[in-house]
Amino acid sequence: MTKRQSGLLLVAAAAVVATANATLALLQEYKSGVVWPEPKVVAAGATPGAPPADAVVLFDGKDLSQWKNGENWEVKDGYAITRKSDISTKESFGDCQLHVEFATPAVVKGNGQGRGNSGVYIMERYEVQILDSVDNPTYFDGQCGAMYKQSPPMVNVSRKPGEWQTYDILFEAPVFGDDGKVTKPAFVTVLHNGVVVHNHFELKGSTNFDRPAAYVKHAARMPIRLQFHGDEAMYRNIWVREMAALVGTPPASK
Ligand code: MG
Repeated sequence: MTKRQSGLLLVAAAAVVATANATLALLQEYKSGVVWPEPKVVAAGATPGAPPADAVVLFDGKDLSQWKNGENWEVKDGYAITRKSDISTKESFGDCQLHVEFATPAVVKGNGQGRGNSGVYIMERYEVQILDSVDNPTYFDGQCGAMYKQSPPMVNVSRKPGEWQTYDILFEAPVFGDDGKVTKPAFVTVLHNGVVVHNHFELKGSTNFDRPAAYVKHAARMPIRLQFHGDEAMYRNIWVREMAALVGTPPASK
C-alpha cells in the first residue's frame, strides 16, 4: 500500500467514526420507567456445581439430618446409598433451583426399570427419573432424565454406571384455585450432565406409574423426596435455592 492509499484509508475510517458519533448523538436511550430493586449479591459456589451462598444445602456428603427417614439410608465416603425407604426433606420448597448429583451402581444388576432406579420427586409428586440408561432398554418416558410417564428426555446423555452425574432442575410450582383446580400448571426445566433434556416443560400433574397424570391441590411449598425403588443408587452434593423473579414498580400511568 502506498503512502497516499493508506492516507485515504485513514480519512475514510475517520469519516465512518464521525458518522457513527453523529448518529449516536441523535439517539435517545430508551428507559422503561420501571423501578427495579437491586439484584442481591450472591457469592457463587467455589467450583462448578458447588452450592452458592444462598443455597440450602440438603446433603454435603456427611449426614442426612435434613431428611425425614434419612437414617434409613447408608452414608459413607461422602455419599449416600438408597436403602429401605424414600427420604424427604424436612423443609418445604416452592419455585426453586435444585442441584442433585447421583450415580447408579458400577456393578450392573437387573434390567429395564429394575436397574439403578431412583428418582427426584419435586414437591413429593413430580418425578425426574433416575435409572441406569446405558444399554438398558425400557419405555422412553421412564428412562433416565424422563419426567416419569409424561415425557422422555430430549436426549439420552447418561454417563456410565458408577460415574457421577448431575441434575440441575428449575421448577415452577403449580398454583391452585379455591375450587381445587389448577390455575397455573407446574413447569420444569432439567439439565442432565449440563445438557438440557426438558425446557420449560408443562407438567400435566403428578407423575404416576398406575394412572394418568393429574393435578390434586397441594400446598404452595412441599418437600423434595428421593425414591427408594428397591435398587441401589448413590447421591451426593444436593442443594436447593429459592427462585423468584425480581418485581419492578411500573411507571405511573399518565
Ligand atoms: Mg424412579
